Amino acid sequence: MKHTFHPTVIAFDADDTLWMNEIYFQETERTFCHWMAEYAPETSVAEQLFQTEMRNLSLYGYGAKGFTLSMVETAINVSHGRVSAGRVADIVKLGQTLLTRPVELLDGVVEVLPLLHPHYQLVLATKGDLLDQQRKLDRSGLRHWFHHIEIMSRKEETDYRQLMSRLGVSPDEFLMVGNSLKSDVLPVMSAGGHAVWIPYHTTWQHEEVAASHPRGYTELHSLHQLPVMLGMAVQ
Ligand SMILES: [Mg+2]
Repeated sequence: MKHTFHPTVIAFDADDTLWMNEIYFQETERTFCHWMAEYAPETSVAEQLFQTEMRNLSLYGYGAKGFTLSMVETAINVSHGRVSAGRVADIVKLGQTLLTRPVELLDGVVEVLPLLHPHYQLVLATKGDLLDQQRKLDRSGLRHWFHHIEIMSRKEETDYRQLMSRLGVSPDEFLMVGNSLKSDVLPVMSAGGHAVWIPYHTTWQHEEVAASHPRGYTELHSLHQLPVMLGMAVQ
């Protein structure tokens, strides 16, 4: 496989790229739906919660606080106003638990960031609630590996273009690494940059180790493969 680009900046998504995230939201959602089962089937509660989250996204943005408010709103709706104040308090507490969890780093993070650090400007480019992402970054112990931290409210093509211009790099020098095709890969490519997709779920197994996708991004199984992909000699 040939890699003709030479990035000077490597930007990393954080949630489900550097540390675990989605699994905690799924656990929280399961507990919530279980609590609401007295009012509606759990699958229907889950669907209503999702609709509420999507409706509220433009108001609250991404993250645990907006998710908690959406759970409360869904509880009121599915119970037709009958949910007790005690249960609402449980839901608020459940949401707060999301904000205080320890940060669990994903495979390869502690080995790969120090390897890349001497050779590239490393950037953290994450979407979500500002305070929550800062707290997770502090708890992760990873802050010192990053040249620049960017907590973004959106990850669209124009947001990446602005990030590149703030960093003073051309798109061709910019490589984004993340678990989301929608947020981390496709908008970066539209902006002329390069992207590596590392799907989070272990069930998403693929045959090839590092296949260049027809659309131009590279898919890796693990962050461990990134230095080799970049042509670095790794022991
Ligand atoms: Mg992510």
